This record gives sequence, C-alpha cells and structure tokens, in this order.
Amino acid sequence: MRGQRSLLLGPARLCLRLLLLLGYRRRRPPLLRGLVQRWRYGKVCLRSLLFNSFGGSDAAIDAAFEPIYWLVDNMIRWCGVVFVVLVIVLTSSIVAIAYLCVLPLILRTYSVPRLCWHFFYSHWNLILIVFHYYQAITTPPGYPPQGQTDIATVSICKKCIYPKPARTHHCSICNRCVLKMDHHCPWLNNCVGHYNHRYFFSFCFFMTLGCVYCSYGSWDLFREAYAAIEKMKQLDKNKLQTVTNQVGCPHPTASCCSGQGTYHQTPPPTFSFRERVTHKSLVYLWFLCSSVALALGALTVWHAVLISRGETSIERLTNRKESCRLRAKGKVFRNHYNYGCLDNWKVFLGVDTGRHWLTRVLLPSSHLPHGNGMSWDPPPWVTAHSTSVMAV
Ligand SMILES: [Zn+2]
Ligand SMILES: [Zn+2]
Repeated sequence: MRGQRSLLLGPARLCLRLLLLLGYRRRRPPLLRGLVQRWRYGKVCLRSLLFNSFGGSDAAIDAAFEPIYWLVDNMIRWCGVVFVVLVIVLTSSIVAIAYLCVLPLILRTYSVPRLCWHFFYSHWNLILIVFHYYQAITTPPGYPPQGQTDIATVSICKKCIYPKPARTHHCSICNRCVLKMDHHCPWLNNCVGHYNHRYFFSFCFFMTLGCVYCSYGSWDLFREAYAAIEKMKQLDKNKLQTVTNQVGCPHPTASCCSGQGTYHQTPPPTFSFRERVTHKSLVYLWFLCSSVALALGALTVWHAVLISRGETSIERLTNRKESCRLRAKGKVFRNHYNYGCLDNWKVFLGVDTGRHWLTRVLLPSSHLPHGNGMSWDPPPWVTAHSTSVMAV
C-alpha cells in the first residue's frame, strides 16, 4: 500500500516542480502579462549592462557622462583638421604680408647691414617654424607595442585592456594609449607624446619668437598705418558729408555751396587702393602677431617650467596630488624622472655634446629622443652627474 502511494506521489511532485520552474502563475489578462514580461526583460537587460564587480558611484557617473565625452572627443577630432588649416592659413597670410607690404617699405628705408640681418633672421625663424610644425603634426607620438608581453608595465589600460608602461596614458580622442603622453593638441590634430614632444615645444618656442619679432619690428609701421587708416576714415566721412550737402542744396553749382565743407577748389590727397590694402594689412599683422605672442608665449613658458621639472602636463596633476598625500603623512615626494634642470633640458632636446646645441636645437634636426618611451633609464652622463637628484 505504502509502495503504491509513493509511486503516485513521486510523479505528482515532479509535475509540481516543473510547473514552478516554468513560472506557473495564476491567469492574468494577456495585455498585462505582456507588459509584465517586457518590464522584467528590460530590468534584466539594464542590470546586465550596468553589472560591474568594480562598479560604484564613479562608474555610474562615468557611464552617465559617456555620451558627453563621446561628443566632445568627436568635436575635437573634427575641429583638429580645421585648426591645422587655420594655423597654415594665418601663418601664410603673415608671410605674404611681410613679402608684399613690409619688404617694399623697408627696402627704401633700411641700410644694407640692417636689411641683411632681418633677411637672415626672419628666414631662419620661418624655416624652424615650418619644420617643427610639419614634424609635430606628422610624427606619431609613440604607442606601446600590442601583443608584446616582455615590456615593463605599471598598470593595465581600462580602455585598451593592454599593459601600460610608465608615463603612458590613454588618449580618448586618438582612442589609444600614448607613450609619455603630454596632452592631445587640437592645433596639431595629434597627441603630444614621447616622439613628438620636442617638435611641439620647439614649434611653440620659435612661433612665439617669430610673433615677437614681427610685432616689435613692425611697431613703427603699425603706428603709421593706424594713423593713415584714421585719416582715411575722416576723409570718407567728409566725402559723405559733401555729397549730402550737394544733394540737399537746391543750387548745387552755385557759389552758396562752395564754402560748406566741399573740396571743389582744393581736393585733399586721397589713398590709392594699394595704399589702403597695405595699411590695413599692417594693422592686421601687428594685432595677430601680438595676440599670438601673448597667448602662445604663456603656453611656452608653462611647458618650459614643466620640462625643467621633468614632468608632462598630466604628470603635473598626478604629482601634485601625490605630493599632498605624502606631505600629510610627513613624507617628501620625489619625481623619478627629474634629473635636475639642465639635464632635463639636455635629455628633452637630445643634446649629448656641446655641438648639439647648434646642430640639434638651433637648426632643423629630426634626431630621435632618448630611450624607447617604455623604460626610463637616463643616459649615462645623467646618472653620473645627478645621482643625488634621482628619485627615491
Ligand atoms: Zn589605452
Ligand atoms: Zn590623442
């Protein structure tokens, strides 16, 4: 008897479990059932998308701002092309004004030695600007090798999921890791990193020098051109007044109109089209060069300070944070890549001997920087002189 009961109860329990497993529920209207199913499906999808074992408020904020980051990154990527064209057009316009407007003026007034000095300096400066800008936009900043496992790394890039060597950072605009990344420059439409950092700085430096030279050298011409433009405006105003008076007078040819500001008897000197264009071009040249000299000069000084300290723009932020953290614990922060001011400059510019200051700094040079951008052993001459400065 007991055996027969257990024989019946077994399949009944199995059926009940199957029903529970298949989600047996009491009957609902089909529309409500569909809505409930969709709601549950959406909830599972959302949870699976947001699931992260490292998740937290930071991850949630990052995820919320992701569309904005994407928009800004894409805008900078597209604006980069426009900015590069703008730099080329503005620089070319200044060179064209120098040749077409300034040169004819100074040829008549300057002495031969002064002309020679201006000729050599301006062309040397222009060649260095063009060379460094071309090199900065065309030289890749340097990327960590993918698939190579024997490189010294300090962390893993969250975006690339690849090992990240020291001083390497991920650029969200280029969408890849960059060796010794300084920043992404929209004016170059390129990242500034290990292999083109020197070109970027040299371009900023020589462009600032060129702008200071142009605005200082054209100061007298600018003042004369500005005064001439003011005179032109006054003449145009007088001419308009004359026409108005003539139209308003019932006897335009009679003598009653001759003394009311008209120039029928003694016409003033007028400016030719060429003179007008020259004066306006000189004012444009001075304003543009002065503005760029101020803005780019400030940027160049800031980068010079960073190079003197052996830091990149990104490291400046992280080092400051670390310095505050250690100071709170009564410790002193030391930058591992600071070899001392002069040695930092030598390493940055690739100057190994005294002759290199001329051949590698004051003349166009495409020599490679020290190291491969992944390990940061200083050159032997730096180790010999700066052991005490080296980081701990
Ligand atoms: Zn990366
Ligand atoms: Zn970049």
